[in-house]
Amino acid sequence: MYDVMVIGAGPAGCMAAKRLADAGYGVLLVERMSIPREKSCSGILIKKSIKVIKNEFGKIPDSVLCKPNISKGIVITNEKGQTFKFESDGLNVWRSLFDEWLALKAQNAGAELRQSTSAIACAEKHDYVSVKLHDSEIYEEKARIVVACDGADSNIKRDLFKKPKNYVFTYQTFCRGTIDLDHDFFHAFLDPQLSQYDAWFNVKDDLLILGVGVKEPALMKMYHSRFLSFLNSQFNAKIESCVKEEVGIMPGVTSGCPVNLGTGRILFAGEAANFLNPIGEGISSALASGYAAAEAVKSAYKTNNFSVKSLIDTYNYNISPEKEYMTRQWTILAGMSSKFSYMK
Ligand SMILES: Cc1cc2nc3c(=O)[nH]c(=O)nc-3n(C[C@H](O)[C@H](O)[C@H](O)COP(=O)(O)OP(=O)(O)OC[C@H]3O[C@@H](n4cnc5c(N)ncnc54)[C@H](O)[C@@H]3O)c2cc1C
Repeated sequence: MYDVMVIGAGPAGCMAAKRLADAGYGVLLVERMSIPREKSCSGILIKKSIKVIKNEFGKIPDSVLCKPNISKGIVITNEKGQTFKFESDGLNVWRSLFDEWLALKAQNAGAELRQSTSAIACAEKHDYVSVKLHDSEIYEEKARIVVACDGADSNIKRDLFKKPKNYVFTYQTFCRGTIDLDHDFFHAFLDPQLSQYDAWFNVKDDLLILGVGVKEPALMKMYHSRFLSFLNSQFNAKIESCVKEEVGIMPGVTSGCPVNLGTGRILFAGEAANFLNPIGEGISSALASGYAAAEAVKSAYKTNNFSVKSLIDTYNYNISPEKEYMTRQWTILAGMSSKFSYMK
């Protein structure tokens, strides 16, 4: 039996696994994909993420960065054409390489990494959790505590709570071409004509990334082509070719920013818990919640108190600054755009 099983080797899972392995616990880190794996993402690490990563994982290697290495901040244009420029240096990374590095760090700390293995379901028993895993066959592993960090489409959460899905779907294309927008910034457009959520432009190496977020997946290509026409007319975008397209999902955050921290001995962190900041920034809260969940697990072991209430209460206490941060960020966005006024 493992002390802890962490499901999902994204930023939340790698943080939880590394913290717990560093503290000497027996950790199994289960990842559905083979690493390095793709994760649809703009790959911007904001200052808050960089600080935590440097503290916990060490210097971010140049090999995971793409050009421009430094992201100078974000420019948000609302439905009235007003622009809000936030200057703050971040880093521009390829998620596949960045997450691979995080997973390697968790492994080096002593976590057992099991790739190409899906967690299908968790069942809480008297003093452990039984987890059904699937690789070439279906089998059971046991852990005293589970931290589910399996992303926005969390299988584990769906299985336990049977709640209806609430996603934002994203569609982005990686193109060659030119555009009269500053490549050093991430540009977000909130005009409802261009997307049902936001539309964005950023640069990774020599590729222009154009993306839209929608509630109805059937409309993603229609909005994307509208966005392209807009960029063409307003910023002289000339697209020569598209080398890749990607569909992704994010949790749909609702008023009050409710999160779901788990049940009993099964904690959720990252997007599985519904953490997501405006304009799709989620790495910082994934890291923070992975950290806070790990600290809650550590204190359960230290006090030998695995009671349902104690574990979730400790996690809730640890994570409250992050919840406040998330709520503040959404309130700021609500003040900038009527599209997000429901988040006030
Ligand atoms: C288009 C787009 C752009 C974005 N841009 C940014 C950005 O620039 N900056 C930023 O901070 N955030 C960005 N985000 C958000 C960010 O990607 C997420 O918030 C962040 O990755 C969440 O981390 P996580 O660890 O919770 O989940 P994930 O990173 O999604 O990791 C979950 C992991 O769990 C694995 N998994 C899933 N199911 C199972 C299972 N059943 N068993 C085992 N493993 C499983 C997955 O393969 C994955 O590796 C963006 C999101 C999208 C969609």
